[in-house]
Amino acid sequence: MSKPRLDGKVAIVTGGASGIGEAAARLFASSGATVVIADVQDALGEAVAASVGSDRCTYARCDVTEEAQVEATVARVVAAHGRLDVMLSNAGVLLPTGSVMDMDLAQLDRVMAVNFRGAAACVKHAARAMVASGSGGGAIVCTASVASLQGGFGPASYTASKHALLGLVRAAAGELGRHGVRVNCVSPGGVATPLSCALMGVGPRELEAMTVPHNVLQGKVLRAEDVAEAALFLASDQAAFISGHNLVVDGATTAVNAAVLHTVGL
Ligand code: NAD
Repeated sequence: MSKPRLDGKVAIVTGGASGIGEAAARLFASSGATVVIADVQDALGEAVAASVGSDRCTYARCDVTEEAQVEATVARVVAAHGRLDVMLSNAGVLLPTGSVMDMDLAQLDRVMAVNFRGAAACVKHAARAMVASGSGGGAIVCTASVASLQGGFGPASYTASKHALLGLVRAAAGELGRHGVRVNCVSPGGVATPLSCALMGVGPRELEAMTVPHNVLQGKVLRAEDVAEAALFLASDQAAFISGHNLVVDGATTAVNAAVLHTVGL
């Protein structure tokens, strides 16, 4: 099978200034796409876009919690490039909201505003542009998480936001199928990025050293680039009949009950 390509396609990557989104922006651009990074970290976003090359990648400030900014970003991309083929809705936050018994509800609102409501705005306005183009296609990929499937990977607020996001993706795949627009999720396990390192209060290598012994798939470390490859596949025409799917990139962590595996000695 040849490597997935995005030649001639125009893509928006939200949260593309850092971590998984940065890896995806770089990979999408090197795979032939024209990429617009939409983020709130202006200096980082500009630097990533410049290092990719202004002919392939540009930066646009866009706070996904503000629907008007998402709408305006999509409109500017369509005006500048004539189309929108791919939306990678990836911007996310993981805030410490405490145990459920003393959950900080203001922080819960903030997590939902970025991870769920922000993604909903991206799906809404990307879908409108894709349908309006009359191309009969378009690919929306949302970065969910293993926390879209199970509890225990993060605070309840984060888990709830990712469960909600998976529901949104499945519902949108149903509604947008008639227009030929595909909607999928990529769900990573733990990746050492500023988001996960900040929560744990450690650096990337320290975080990897903490998580690797608990991995089901041994001898490997999940990196942002691995998640970007999965997103590239879902965004590409090689995934032409894949929609409503949650592509889990976790080395079998959510497929296997590791505690039982070890207890029974397997
Ligand atoms: P990161 O902090 O490196 O990147 C997140 C990006 O989102 C940042 O550039 C940030 O500025 C941007 N962002 C935050 N709020 C925004 C807003 N309101 N508008 C626009 N941009 C905003 O973290 P990451 O780990 O690369 O996270 C990317 C996605 O991957 C998130 O949705 C996260 O939930 C998900 N994820 C991460 C992990 C992990 O272990 N790192 C695991 C599973 C899922």
